[in-house]
Amino acid sequence: MSTIAEDLYVWLPPKRGWGLANCGLLTSSRTAAWIDTPYDPTLAGEFLAESRKRLAAGVSVDRVIVTHANGDHLWGAGVLPDAEVIATKEALEHIHYEPTPQQQHALVKGADPASPLGWYLGEHFGQFDWSSTEPVHPTLMFQGELELRVGDHPVHVIGLPPAHTDGDLIVHLPRQRAVFSGDIIFASTEEFPGDHPVHWAGPLQNVIDACGRVLDTGAEIVIPGHGPVLDRAGVRRHIAHLEYVQERAHALHAAGIPALDAARRVIAEGRHPELGLPERLVVTIGSEYRHLDGSEQPAILDVMSQVATVARELEPARIPGRRSADGRPVLPA
Ligand SMILES: [Zn+2]
Repeated sequence: MSTIAEDLYVWLPPKRGWGLANCGLLTSSRTAAWIDTPYDPTLAGEFLAESRKRLAAGVSVDRVIVTHANGDHLWGAGVLPDAEVIATKEALEHIHYEPTPQQQHALVKGADPASPLGWYLGEHFGQFDWSSTEPVHPTLMFQGELELRVGDHPVHVIGLPPAHTDGDLIVHLPRQRAVFSGDIIFASTEEFPGDHPVHWAGPLQNVIDACGRVLDTGAEIVIPGHGPVLDRAGVRRHIAHLEYVQERAHALHAAGIPALDAARRVIAEGRHPELGLPERLVVTIGSEYRHLDGSEQPAILDVMSQVATVARELEPARIPGRRSADGRPVLPA
């Protein structure tokens, strides 16, 4: 865990991948707060042990501010049973969209590894253990904005229109000149390449606008939901990346290309070969198409099945020697 500003620490997981999210700790002489939790009780226990080393005697983590309701930012809250859990009112909707922790555990362990979905879930989620994780229920829900204090530190919590999920928020710490953006930003730098963004709600314009909102706070330090800590230039680079995906999705939609094939095409363009999990473009482009078509959000497992299918198509390309002459992944016809 590293110190990034006065009384502010960030816990970055050791590698990239699904479910490995960044978490924050803000301390004071009287109280402390987490911004997001790790995905499962083992990781949350590690974050808690690291947090306790940085707390003054008699101080505990009394509050958890949840940037959005994906399990990888929320499900670790069970290690702090007495803490207040703060989320937007809209985040409740997303809690109902995802399986519960124990349902997800059964799904990952019970899925047929011969099917694309079973293989994919095992590969990317098999390392986590939610066998005894109860669902987390936020205890303070709000709409709009919320002003809190952790000791003398002002904490400005800003709810957003649907973007990464329904019910995202960002946490602005004016004294630290820092913002926790949650999964509005999936960060990547030359030194620490990250993963492709995945957006469940959208439209992408709302994600881009939310990145603008992060910059509008004047913060110099931006802690993304995943990937390395960014400066303001890093946020601007991320906006350019999102605009590229948005532009391609709109052009392919206008050309009558179905969403899944549009995702395959954008993957094949290989614009960001340094980023992991290119199959997540299936989710992001699918969400964008729904806004263009006015269609309903499909069930999460249907979305993940498509992600798994595309990941499996890309798999041969990940084996050395199976790349096309220009180095792009070889896609099946
Ligand atoms: Zn996340």
